[in-house]
Amino acid sequence: MSFRVTTPLLQADRAGRIYGSGMLGSARTVALDDFSLSVGTGSPSITAIVGESGSGKTTLARLLLGLTTPTSGTIRYRGEDIARLSGDSRRAYRTDIQAIFQDPYGVFNPFYRVDHVLTTPVRKFRLASSRSEARALIEQALRTVGLRPEEILGRYPHQLSGGQRQRTMVARALLLKPKIIIADEPVSMVDASLRATILGSLRRLTDELGISILYITHDLATAWQVSDNIIVMYRASAVEAGQAEAVVKTPAHPYTKLLVGSIPQVSLTRDWLATEPDVQRPEERDAACRFADRCPFTMAVCHTQRPPLSRISPCHAAACHLHGQHADLAAEDLNDVLA
Ligand code: SF4
Repeated sequence: MSFRVTTPLLQADRAGRIYGSGMLGSARTVALDDFSLSVGTGSPSITAIVGESGSGKTTLARLLLGLTTPTSGTIRYRGEDIARLSGDSRRAYRTDIQAIFQDPYGVFNPFYRVDHVLTTPVRKFRLASSRSEARALIEQALRTVGLRPEEILGRYPHQLSGGQRQRTMVARALLLKPKIIIADEPVSMVDASLRATILGSLRRLTDELGISILYITHDLATAWQVSDNIIVMYRASAVEAGQAEAVVKTPAHPYTKLLVGSIPQVSLTRDWLATEPDVQRPEERDAACRFADRCPFTMAVCHTQRPPLSRISPCHAAACHLHGQHADLAAEDLNDVLA
């Protein structure tokens, strides 16, 4: 990923999302706060957005997919606000950006054969001019994700394993030849033995087909396993970002250290698994570091000044006063520390 070379394919530009409830929106929850990131410029890569429940990672995914609107900032596709896309540009956005969700079973209609989720996009986006061409496209997509078409087509969803269902959804996304896939917790509902297979499929999409992937996860271990870059989110903001190697092997933010330290028998060979999320906390928008109540290194300044994201090495940034002597990294420069 790179930020300034060309117009980014997909960009969160100081995007924020606040949910309000109660009288006049008095109980507000900041789901995402002033977040900027570009995807789809430069070399294809996998960037993991890691955080516990309520950290803002799924809100970011929904904003980028146009499923939620930002309350501040903008989501842009090829430089254009996605809220204003129409005609061909909207159609291009809908094909270039694809999603894979946590629960593949929820996407399937149990009364239809699995074929239905694959033939629908072919028909809707007019990807083939004949039934045989459509069939060939679908079979090719299934094979790309390591599935045998004869074991998938003609069956009902309940006849497939969880791993087969999830990889079928990856194949569905591939039919549209996307440039970016946003994968929201794609392996959290499959057992450990299948995780590596599915993550391996995602890695091949990047390496062999040039698709950039945003991998949304609560699991730092699988993020490390598959990603080029890692952005760690905590209570609606990025607290650490950089190339995966730097973030995992030399974590700079106390929260990231906590995540890395809670993984039993940390191995740096990219084959371990990690932690469960916490619950969402209420809004604490102002002044203090949002991690101050959990941090073992809290100082007086942590209660009065929110630490900015600061570059601590060429490929690594953290938002913590322990690194306050470094230059601030403006939100829009986050991509500068990613691969
Ligand atoms: Fe801890 Fe202070 Fe750093 Fe926040 S800014 S993570 S409270 S040391």
